[in-house]
Amino acid sequence: MENELHKRDHLGVQDFVLLEDYHNQDAFLDNLRKRFEGNLIYTYIGPVLVSINPYHELDIYNTEFIQTYRNVNFYELPPHIFAIADASYTSMRGENKDQCILISGESGAGKTEASKKILQYIAANSTHSVDVERVKDRLLQSNPILESFGNAKTNKNDNSSRFGKYMDIQFDYKGAPVGGHILNYLLEKSRVVHQGQGERNFHIFYQLIQGGSPALLEKLKLDRNPDKYFYLNQGNCSNDVTHDDQNLRVIQEAMETCDFSEKEREALYCIVASVLHLGDLTYEVNETGMAKLTDHKQGLVIAQLLGCEGDTLESALHNRTIDARGEKLKTPLNVDQAMYARDALAKGIYDRLFTWMVQKINKALAKKDKLKCSLMGLLDIYGFEIFVVNSFEQFCINYCNEKLQQLFIQLTLKSEQEEYQREGIEWEPVQYFNNKIICDLVEGKPMGIIAILDEECLRPGEPSDETFLEKLSETIGQHPHFVSHKIASSSTRKTIQRDEFRLIHYAGDVTYNVKGFLDKNNDLLFRDLKEAMSQTTNLITSECFPADELQSKKRPETAATQFKTSLSMLMDILMSKEPSYVRCIKPNEYKRAGVFDERIVTHQVKYLGLMENLRVRRAGFAYRRPYEVFLRRYKCLCPSTWPHYHGSPKDGTAELVNYLNYEQDDFRMGKTKLFIRFPRVLFATEDAFQL
Ligand code: ATP
Ligand code: MG
Repeated sequence: MENELHKRDHLGVQDFVLLEDYHNQDAFLDNLRKRFEGNLIYTYIGPVLVSINPYHELDIYNTEFIQTYRNVNFYELPPHIFAIADASYTSMRGENKDQCILISGESGAGKTEASKKILQYIAANSTHSVDVERVKDRLLQSNPILESFGNAKTNKNDNSSRFGKYMDIQFDYKGAPVGGHILNYLLEKSRVVHQGQGERNFHIFYQLIQGGSPALLEKLKLDRNPDKYFYLNQGNCSNDVTHDDQNLRVIQEAMETCDFSEKEREALYCIVASVLHLGDLTYEVNETGMAKLTDHKQGLVIAQLLGCEGDTLESALHNRTIDARGEKLKTPLNVDQAMYARDALAKGIYDRLFTWMVQKINKALAKKDKLKCSLMGLLDIYGFEIFVVNSFEQFCINYCNEKLQQLFIQLTLKSEQEEYQREGIEWEPVQYFNNKIICDLVEGKPMGIIAILDEECLRPGEPSDETFLEKLSETIGQHPHFVSHKIASSSTRKTIQRDEFRLIHYAGDVTYNVKGFLDKNNDLLFRDLKEAMSQTTNLITSECFPADELQSKKRPETAATQFKTSLSMLMDILMSKEPSYVRCIKPNEYKRAGVFDERIVTHQVKYLGLMENLRVRRAGFAYRRPYEVFLRRYKCLCPSTWPHYHGSPKDGTAELVNYLNYEQDDFRMGKTKLFIRFPRVLFATEDAFQL
């Protein structure tokens, strides 16, 4: 494979740092487009890999490619996801440093595919033994299971991950994978009970219905037709994803590989089925004006599937018991409340089931011994989201992206600085926008948005989404990154409704509608339902709803605070590792090959912070290479280095650049690398080489 590194032609440059005018966004886009059109989906910004989704299969992931990229210096081959994987792996082994690869981008940009390619590379690239093969199998097979339960068809992506995922792969001293561990973040559980037009529920529901044997469906009291179920038919596209039927077999096998016992698989299907039955519960008004199940038998089916008394479940679906200073007060629910409780139960069960599955997979991935291992982490997490209406979920997701951006800034600048120091070159500080101010606005105490939201959720009286918004305007109205209707200037006020607030994110402005914020943050599942679940004989629900949770007097943490805590732990994990970055871009909104929509690409370039990234990288030196690499390529240009130079590569390079008349300010000689300030200097050398 020819190295196109130094080429500038109709296919652009393979590293954006080689663009002469690096402030120019049009030049950036032009380069990206040229490469995309030539099916070159990968481009570097220094060590960062930019990837653009081709939306069609490319023959660049076969074993030949894996072989080619193995153990080859990062810059000696065209940019590739395998090069990132290899560099990270090599650095982990050679320098004994834990690694992490952070993959970001918006929905449909190719994050999950990228993470699978990395895993494929790692699995193909290491020593073989029975134990290692088993671990690799499990690492690879954990994907279809989690995708089946955590992915869904959305308008943006037919296989959209609706949860965040961080996976550590553990390696022994020989570099063989010996275990793994997965952390999951914020499953979009509202999808269990509601899907927008053209979208579906999580894949597993359809896979079970289409692929389950007649005997299994009979046992689960399920009909073969997904359109019959309220939780599946709201998006009017239940049959839109092909192979639902065959996929169940794939998942069954994957679950076997990951040690799910037959009993566990049965329990799991019973839960999935009972969620569907819950969605079909309807209520009518009884003689006292309260809710009553229209069909008592439907409740019994669910009770039977989960293994609890029909009466217990039915009572829990109809009543709410409040523990008021040791005294239990049971009040019946009206129809709205009962529907709310039903949906909360469906969401609660599914969400806990998902976490249970991750833990189950973790047990299967657990390392057998206690020996020290090296780690490579893969982060595949939701990108920045801006919808027409943005709610609590987008607020959490965008907050997560602010945190990741913060980490990116800290680590990129740090590593630049460290490289200059290590190489003994003077560090020239770079000006950049630090988004810490926005992170603080969201998570600060006591005045951050999450703190204010929590306080409002706990406040006695009648807190509501409106009073929450009121509080926000009162407390943080003056903050430069916050706007609400109340405090907006008259021109801005026209663009923001009374029930909205706007955050000026690093990636752009997002307007959030406060409707549902309190409810989603409280994430309330009535005690009666938790109690009923803790008494089930289904081995998963009984484990997911432990009785001692009910004993606890402490109020459960709110959803936002839980998320904040788990993010903060994630940041600590990532901070302790050496990062690599993959920035994914999607070329158009239609999931179509060959279409480069400049408007939407521009938008992503902006909110992935790529121009800023390039600016930081270029602020000092555009190009840097180890002396051996530079000398090997260009030694033929100078009589005293060709065909062999007998001194050190550094001395050879010094002779070479001297012979080539490099200007004093164009370059610096570091301890192990040559730094070149401007691309034109490199190109001139390359042109001489081509002659
Ligand atoms: P989400 O945030 O919704 O989970 P994502 O960034 O994980 O989105 P993927 O599921 O990885 O997106 O990619 C979406 C689709 O794009 C894939 O199902 C596949 O069809 C296509 N795709 C992505 N990357 C590649 C690639 N490298 N080669 C070919 N097709 C790809
Ligand atoms: Mg994904």
